[in-house]
Amino acid sequence: MRTWRGPLSPHSTPRWRTEGARGAVAMTPSWMEVLRSRLDALDAQHLRRTRRIVEGGCASQMTVADPAGPRPLLAFCSNDYLGLAAHPAVAEALVRGVRAVGAGSGASALISGHHRAHERVEERFAALLAPHIPRCRALLFGTGYLANTATIAALADREAAIFSEALNHASLIDGVRLSPAARHIYPHADLAALGAMLRASTARQKIIVTDAVFSMDGDLAPLPQLLALAEEHGALLMVDDAHGFGVLGPRGAGALAHFALRSENLVYVGTLGKALGVSGAFVAAHANVIEWLVQRGRPYVFSTAPPPALSYGLEAALDIATGVEGDALRGALAGHVARLQAGLRVAPWCPLPSTTAIQPIVIGDNAGTMDAAAALFERGIWVAGIRPPTVAEGSARLRATLSAAHTPAQVDELIAALNALSPRARGHDEPHR
Ligand SMILES: *Cc1c(COP(=O)(O)O)cnc(C)c1O
Repeated sequence: MRTWRGPLSPHSTPRWRTEGARGAVAMTPSWMEVLRSRLDALDAQHLRRTRRIVEGGCASQMTVADPAGPRPLLAFCSNDYLGLAAHPAVAEALVRGVRAVGAGSGASALISGHHRAHERVEERFAALLAPHIPRCRALLFGTGYLANTATIAALADREAAIFSEALNHASLIDGVRLSPAARHIYPHADLAALGAMLRASTARQKIIVTDAVFSMDGDLAPLPQLLALAEEHGALLMVDDAHGFGVLGPRGAGALAHFALRSENLVYVGTLGKALGVSGAFVAAHANVIEWLVQRGRPYVFSTAPPPALSYGLEAALDIATGVEGDALRGALAGHVARLQAGLRVAPWCPLPSTTAIQPIVIGDNAGTMDAAAALFERGIWVAGIRPPTVAEGSARLRATLSAAHTPAQVDELIAALNALSPRARGHDEPHR
């Protein structure tokens, strides 16, 4: 007979004991038993995640597979902030690229995978960020995850210290983990704490790492003050603008443009699968930083270059995002953000005071959050429920994201559904816990 001995945690290893003739004998569980018990623990904590199958493209109206047949939904969960993922001009350019240069790049960039199309789009990113970074160069990556891990691990060696914001994206955290540098985590937006850590550090090189727009809260990092601290301490300031590039600042040039910053201490990461609607990422920085990444950014050096055809799509998306059409799309998005903030009365849930496309409603517990997401889904509205470890324990939330592809009427539908679902509207006085 087997009895349970271990704590019920997704990361603990279960220990079974077999009661035999000679008493309890410790027995090592098989891999499959270990994984089964970890998955059971996820279920017990309402942390099991599932994927829905999207039929067709990414748009404000999406269709997902359902046992009862394809299901149309009004979607508020993509990061396609400008609606470029389904833009005909972007899709056309991609097709043109595939016809011109085929499917794959064939090799890593340093072998033979760096094509003319990659070079062209890198020059465009460098030109866009040049007002903010002296001697600006840009380097294209397959994803933001690769760009972040490559950059931190390549820059921060044993002699360095990394100062990392507490709410940073997982890809930045993993970059920190790949580096042998000393690491300091400063509390969210706490400039005094960061200043004290920088003063106390005796490291030869220092690098501050932060999201520009916090991906689960929607607020902006205090970049001007962070840059002042960086310059005071001779530190680099690495800014991950995954949710700002294409959206913030004049021409959608991102958070550095929004705050009108300029410094050779800035290392900027823009991702291209969100507002740009395609895929990939770039790092823009002083030529010396970029050249070092080409030499020593392991995820850059040892990974196949992205398909060159993607760069055709990226150029088209960049034309739109940085032009007058982009201005109109950003205007529409800002209108939706203001509309949602004004219309939400979901007390006692607390909508965060975000001014960006990321509009989170913190509910707290995991089951309550997933119940709320399921109730919205039943009404034909798709909003992601976000649980730990993506957010802190006890701060599970609905994360609604807005896009220029939405109409004001669609935003009103979301507002009505959220207001109808709030516990107060349903006659509860207590927080939904
Ligand atoms: C999405 C995201 C990334 C990762 O970018 P991908 O291109 O999706 O790999 C990095 N940082 C932040 C803040 C993000 O939201």
